[in-house]
Amino acid sequence: MYISIDDAKCMGHGRCYGVAPALLTDDEEGFVAERGQCWKVPDDLLGDAQDAADACPEGAIALLDQAPV
Ligand code: SF4
Repeated sequence: MYISIDDAKCMGHGRCYGVAPALLTDDEEGFVAERGQCWKVPDDLLGDAQDAADACPEGAIALLDQAPV
């Protein structure tokens, strides 16, 4: 599974890295530091990725079966 974070949608609520600190981190302004990125989620963090996506009130986090082309 891949996780993608939409830079334009992220409003810096901070819920994602709050529920998934092993997967996501915050920057100095309170936004998720990995916004605008897409990467393969390690198998042991798949639950964290789902939790982060569920927690984001902006729908900024997408989980994808395949890497985007
Ligand atoms: S919860 Fe959503 S809006 Fe908030 S920092 Fe994370 S990705 Fe951005």
